[in-house]
Amino acid sequence: MKRILVVEDERHLANGLRFNLEAEGYEVEIVETGEDALLRLAGSNPASFDLLVLDLMLPGMDGFGVMTELRRAGNFIPTLMLTARGHADDVLRGFAAGADDYLTKPFELAILLARIHGLLRRREWLQPVRKDNFAFGDGEKQVDFDRLELSVRGRTYQLTQMEANVLRYLIQHEGKPVSRKAMIQEVWGLQEDTDTRPIDNFIVRLRRYIEDDPTAPRHVQTVRGVGYRFVGEAGR
Ligand code: CA
Repeated sequence: MKRILVVEDERHLANGLRFNLEAEGYEVEIVETGEDALLRLAGSNPASFDLLVLDLMLPGMDGFGVMTELRRAGNFIPTLMLTARGHADDVLRGFAAGADDYLTKPFELAILLARIHGLLRRREWLQPVRKDNFAFGDGEKQVDFDRLELSVRGRTYQLTQMEANVLRYLIQHEGKPVSRKAMIQEVWGLQEDTDTRPIDNFIVRLRRYIEDDPTAPRHVQTVRGVGYRFVGEAGR
């Protein structure tokens, strides 16, 4: 049974989520504050969860703080954040903090369930098709999709699950342009009319890790009017 931690301070919404997620066969625990979420996930006696549903607006430490602390502590649990309508910057800030996906409140239950299902499914999908230790950049850069680690000339970066998924998708299509629409559908499992700007945010982060000069990217190239192309070695 998959275990989901819901961090939500609006009790009626939290109870509704519990009811519906349990009806779908998930085991659900609810906490109302960011501090409690950190205790459950990264405290001295952490519990094991498969997914985190994280509201951004919380009393005390907010969802951004929770996300940042978790990722800093090396916890890369797939995370769906809940944002208030009309706060577009929250989405980018949430992704920058390490969230994997987001949903705007108020949301339809069916959409929430689809997103949760998608995050859990992608995590499983990653298991059998691991391409561990893919090396590029004349062998000086390696990504380990098992450990979600990126190593660049001996320096190691921890990737979030979604950063790794984006990089994997690009690498799987090495040398070929991939469109933002294809990525939003195949990496995120969302409809093609979804706003694709968050992808650019992921690309900026990946470039910061892997490019010698992120302003003149050599590996994750922009294909104007299309999307992006991964090039492992220069001159190919
Ligand atoms: Ca709230």
